Amino acid sequence: MPAAGSGSRFGAPLPKQYAGLLGRTVIEWALAPFLADPRCAGVVVALAAGDPWWPQVAARLPAAVTTVPGGDQRSGSVLNGLQGLPGRADDRDWVLVHDAARPCLPPADLARLLDTLGGAATGGLLAAPGADTLKYCPPGAVAEVERTVDRTGLWRALTPQMFRLGLLRRALQAAQDAGRIPTDESQALEWTGARPQLVEGSAANIKVTTAQDLVLAAAILAAAATAATLP
Ligand code: C5P
Repeated sequence: MPAAGSGSRFGAPLPKQYAGLLGRTVIEWALAPFLADPRCAGVVVALAAGDPWWPQVAARLPAAVTTVPGGDQRSGSVLNGLQGLPGRADDRDWVLVHDAARPCLPPADLARLLDTLGGAATGGLLAAPGADTLKYCPPGAVAEVERTVDRTGLWRALTPQMFRLGLLRRALQAAQDAGRIPTDESQALEWTGARPQLVEGSAANIKVTTAQDLVLAAAILAAAATAATLP
């Protein structure tokens, strides 16, 4: 779980993964589905240097959660996490990478990802088909529409992303050695010629980016809790 971001767009003194959300922190909600699924053998969290908020969270978590130092980029944080796994995991074992800032992963989506990809050679990711019409505006220009982008075949990449440990570690290392920064694990695999599988996930699996997203996340979690109590 990469959790070393500073969350500059969040506009609060503390990073978004430590924001309060229905009595827990965002990262605790993000960790919960993995801690509850017996198929997940352990969790490694990548933290920013000198992170003062983690110890309090860690005190509430099981011992199976360990930490590594984060990197300058998300992909560096993930690679650091993977580099600590040999000895604990085999190159053919599955690893799942999930953003600390995604507190609303439905447990059913995690189960579907594991069930769908369990027999796959490489792996894949949760993703949501595009729903909105997409507009292109050249970066740096005034906010004017240059054209509408054809959304046919476009998906939004979510997390968790699930790959064979050895393949993912080598793909991220190759990207780093080439000075390329993938924005997700799938992109690093795509650069090696792999074709990660898309597994449809819920649009409720939002990434908390702004303070407004926290309000939405609270509503999503409250609705999920209510639905779970219905017959
Ligand atoms: O900033 P963004 O929302 O894209 O970050 C996605 C995830 O990557 C967050 O959980 C964040 O903490 C993590 N991250 C990281 N190391 C970085 C930058 C981001 O672990 N250098």
